[in-house]
Amino acid sequence: MHRPTWVEIDLNALRHNLFAIKKWVGPQIKILGIVKADAYGHGDYEVSRVLLNNGVEMLGIAILEEGIQLRDKGIKAPLLILGGIFEEQIDTVIQYGLTPTVYDLKLAEVLSKRAYYFNTIMKVHVYVDTGMGSIGVKYDKAVEFVKFVKNMKNLLIEGIYTHCSSSDEKDSAFTNLQIKRFRDVLDALDASKACIPLRHMANSGAILGYPEAYFNMVRPG
Ligand SMILES: *Cc1c(COP(=O)(O)O)cnc(C)c1O
Repeated sequence: MHRPTWVEIDLNALRHNLFAIKKWVGPQIKILGIVKADAYGHGDYEVSRVLLNNGVEMLGIAILEEGIQLRDKGIKAPLLILGGIFEEQIDTVIQYGLTPTVYDLKLAEVLSKRAYYFNTIMKVHVYVDTGMGSIGVKYDKAVEFVKFVKNMKNLLIEGIYTHCSSSDEKDSAFTNLQIKRFRDVLDALDASKACIPLRHMANSGAILGYPEAYFNMVRPG
């Protein structure tokens, strides 16, 4: 069976880009490969396979349905849902072994209760708003939020992250402010022994221009 040539070229280019990013950020930085929106229209399953076969351990998707599709096609790697989820989606998230993002205490409580019901510990990532102003736990409330979630018996905070809103733009002042706000949150958590293993901020733009935004994981799209 022949696969169309352009797919192979595409996937070779992808592998090439992945190795370029790895070399750029260095071996100690983990990569969360973003495959949302059908991997930007390149085919999320094919792209996921290439990333996972080349050392990427975790993938990022936008919505629950993308996770269901990847699981149904046999992808077993950790899948982080970058967008929010609705309460009525929680059981499906658990059944498909997906990793939700949390930034709302009420939703986190329901997640923990449902995880208890299914007799499981669910990994979650906390999303911090460092300036975009839309969704997320505001940076000055993040430490308190993490402490609440840490006390929820069936949730395990595996990661914490934020997003740069203007890393592609020339004015770096705002991105630097976002980095500082996020770092302050992480320092405060470390100081209170609530240290979280995975910390990530940088999208492609920030990978190129802001090494201080790497923390220990980056999110190229
Ligand atoms: C889409 C997305 C990315 C990747 O962004 P690029 O600019 O394509 O690199 C990273 N993080 C989050 C949270 C995203 O939603």
